[in-house]
Amino acid sequence: LPKTERWTQILVECKDNVKKDTKPLLGQIGRTQRDLGTGAGGDAIKSVDLAAENAIIRTLQRNESSFTVISEESGVVEYGGNPDKCYITMDPIDGTTNLMRGVPFYATSIAVSSKPELSAVHTALVTDLCHDLTYTARAGKGAFLQNRKIRPSETLGVEDGVIGVDLNGYRIQELAPRLSSLLGQTKHMRHLGANALELCYVADGTIDAFVDIRGRLRTTDMAAAWLILREAGATITTPKGDELEVGLDPRQRVDCIAAANGNIHERILELVRPGKEAE
Ligand SMILES: [Mg+2]
Repeated sequence: LPKTERWTQILVECKDNVKKDTKPLLGQIGRTQRDLGTGAGGDAIKSVDLAAENAIIRTLQRNESSFTVISEESGVVEYGGNPDKCYITMDPIDGTTNLMRGVPFYATSIAVSSKPELSAVHTALVTDLCHDLTYTARAGKGAFLQNRKIRPSETLGVEDGVIGVDLNGYRIQELAPRLSSLLGQTKHMRHLGANALELCYVADGTIDAFVDIRGRLRTTDMAAAWLILREAGATITTPKGDELEVGLDPRQRVDCIAAANGNIHERILELVRPGKEAE
């Protein structure tokens, strides 16, 4: 079996086990839960995050003798005697707050790479855990939702587009001037609360763009979606329009603009470029 095809099978097994192992905990939705410390990515850990992470690591260990995990929860952990042969970058549950509050939008995100660098990601999976819908991508082989090949939308403008914008993070006064042109022209602005999945919504044409310039997006949240977007034919860059070249690390933060096509991407870059607020 080709390497990325085999990895896709392993990632599907991982998300099946996440579903199975988190199911008993979903009855606690809506009830206040104790935080179990702080994860490597800086957020409070809930028992459901740990159950999901353990399900993935157990599945990886059954299939692979050696790997390095780069996780939002436990950080960087090496397994086996040859951990440099592959890197698994994951957010076991992206959108834990949605899960806890009963908002049906949260996901598991897992990316496999040969080096701890975003550009080396070769296999990716994001599963909408609420609806059991799985996005996958393999480098050079396209992106899929379930078994159907996906493509982004052909929407050209921001006016009639549906645009995801993450404004979380307590820096609204700083961010508002840069975002005001975009928000002023966007009739359908959204933030759904699980960035891995929201990025996949750009890849399959559900929405037209996703903008996160807070300086807070983690590589554990977006490594898998990055490949899914690129393989679907969407565009994802820095706010300056450059390739995203970052190391995979739970503490690494990135700004990104993901868009369905070059037209809408270019429009958004113009609207949010640094210095825009002075005009
Ligand atoms: Mg998480």
